[in-house]
Amino acid sequence: MPKTDLHVHLDGSIRIDTIVDLAKKQGVALPTTDRDELFKLIYAGDVCESLEDYLKAFNITLSVMQTRDSLVRTAYELCEDAWAEGVRYIEVRYSPILHTHGGLGLADIVEAVLEGLRMAKRDFGIRYGVILCGIRSMTPETSVRMAELCLAYKSRHVVGFDLAGAEVNNPAKTHRDAFRLILKNNINCTAHAGEAYGPESIAQAIHYCGAHRIGHGTRLRENGDLLNYVNDHRIPLEICVSSNLQTKAVTGWHSHPVDFYVDYGLRVTINTDNRLVTDTTVSKELWLCHKQFGWDLDRIKNVVVAGWKSAFLPHREKVDVLKEVAAELATIEAPANGRHAEATRHQGDFDGAGSIATEPEPVHDQPTTDITR
Ligand SMILES: [Zn+2]
Repeated sequence: MPKTDLHVHLDGSIRIDTIVDLAKKQGVALPTTDRDELFKLIYAGDVCESLEDYLKAFNITLSVMQTRDSLVRTAYELCEDAWAEGVRYIEVRYSPILHTHGGLGLADIVEAVLEGLRMAKRDFGIRYGVILCGIRSMTPETSVRMAELCLAYKSRHVVGFDLAGAEVNNPAKTHRDAFRLILKNNINCTAHAGEAYGPESIAQAIHYCGAHRIGHGTRLRENGDLLNYVNDHRIPLEICVSSNLQTKAVTGWHSHPVDFYVDYGLRVTINTDNRLVTDTTVSKELWLCHKQFGWDLDRIKNVVVAGWKSAFLPHREKVDVLKEVAAELATIEAPANGRHAEATRHQGDFDGAGSIATEPEPVHDQPTTDITR
């Protein structure tokens, strides 16, 4: 399927072999040069205890991402990996301030990542945008500097601003000045919220910071009023289920709210967060939703379409792209093992040879490409 990945961190999605190779070239000392051992140190898996714990892996990845060449390469390879699993539009996010330790200037950093993305577009045809992140635990002035970079690169594929990092004790409203600058300049913004903190954090992101999308929103269900506001205003949720399991935002698949969110009609998008640290792809996340929640093909198509609708692309462009995506999705048919087939079979078990059991299941989730929904 022609998919999107709207929430993916460059520094969490580097290939493990690239870390080893870059470390060797740059003379950077890694905790181990054995790729399997290194993967164990980085991969969050079940051993990760919290978001703060999860973020420790980035000390390793960032140690080799301080040169121009490494940024060009990792941006290119991320697109190559995403393209290989059918992602046609990617919004790559990172915080330039975290890549200055080798002496690179902020503009050099942004240029290097853009070069890698441009090369990937030339070679594969992947569409892309860049989201620059402020970091919650850094000063508000740093976030303003990241916002200023968004302004400078607005016409060159930097499509949005984000606030990332440790959520507890670092409220979004502290970084309000950065968001104000972004909004005054008609730039899109999103914020990680409701991942490691409650719905108050989501409310702040929306009402104090003007976030147009919410990163995660895992704890939105704890406030029904806010949940309805998000639904009524079609504020997209950038859901990253496996990542949420690892940061212990939820205790397991069956306590994750994504199935309820989709049922309730929220604008849900499925994303990777960190392809290396979480060891995932968009296809894997969708497959897991199918396995864990019984999502059938229609529902998955709807979620894929929601990704395109939620992209930080110009509206007119999106209308055209959605037509192409809808036409392509229409050619994909369900295998006989989807939820509808299951339901019909079970009904048949109870109803014997009754005629109702052989009636086709009503289709509730017709994919809609109507942009207003
Ligand atoms: Zn994230």
